[in-house]
Amino acid sequence: MLRVVVLGAAAGGGVPQWNCGCRICQAARTEHPELQSTQASLAISADGDHWFLINASPDLRQQLIATPQLHPAPGKLRHSPITGVILTNGEIDAIAGLLSMREGWPFTIYAHAKVLATLKSNSVFNVLNEKTVRRRPMAVEQAFEPALPDGSPSGIEILPFEVTGKGAWYLEGQRAENDAGDTLGLRIRDKATDKFFYFIAACAEVTDDLKSRLSGAPLVFFDGTVWRDDELIAAGLGNKTGQSMGHIAMSGERGAIASLGGLGIEKRIFLHINNSNPALLHDSEERKAVMQAGWHIPADGTEITL
Ligand SMILES: [Zn+2]
Repeated sequence: MLRVVVLGAAAGGGVPQWNCGCRICQAARTEHPELQSTQASLAISADGDHWFLINASPDLRQQLIATPQLHPAPGKLRHSPITGVILTNGEIDAIAGLLSMREGWPFTIYAHAKVLATLKSNSVFNVLNEKTVRRRPMAVEQAFEPALPDGSPSGIEILPFEVTGKGAWYLEGQRAENDAGDTLGLRIRDKATDKFFYFIAACAEVTDDLKSRLSGAPLVFFDGTVWRDDELIAAGLGNKTGQSMGHIAMSGERGAIASLGGLGIEKRIFLHINNSNPALLHDSEERKAVMQAGWHIPADGTEITL
């Protein structure tokens, strides 16, 4: 049985974002605390005892406190059920939580060679001693099975694949000539039951290749950053479109809802939802449209089993 816990569903900054006074952030601070959401990350486990994180958000410490499945086992002085962290990109909201995982617990980081190079070149990550916290490269279209602490197989197969996206903002201007490996999706499969799901927290375009990959999938977590492409500009919150940040919109002819409809995907869940996105508001027209199209917006802590 594959267990999946949504540690956080929000995009970078979370809800509310520390310096944002938009209507959604204000509501989350005041009369609607149920709108609060931490930055996107999942925890997965095939045995219920050993867990792997998909990305380590800056909110990781808070997420670990709120998630009993990830607490130290009773009676142990030093322990964590976290066995590994799989990184799908090098953005701050995917890697900063690693810094909260110092203190000497052994685990393994799996990431594309590019992301590992980013970690290597930022000396602050040396706080995770490589003798204790091993770093393993993962390659596009090469499935692998992360190991448990004793070296035995975890029973979880991870297949990373390329999706259309964008490199981390803080590396803009210093990128290599190609953007291969900057944005990865994952197929995560329980080897014992053959159940699987997809994790795609950043995606700028649903290509025909991606459609055929996702067709008939039991569960897909998908990029829900913005409702419409010019949302940040229209709300006076910024000057970037969703596309320029590497994110497809939920709505519109070429948006996620239209592009992924009719593919026979059993369960569709938006993740990485920005605080500017009106679909976060429970009584909004946009939320109604999301639900009518069969999509879900999860609360932090939601557990799904496959
Ligand atoms: Zn806001």
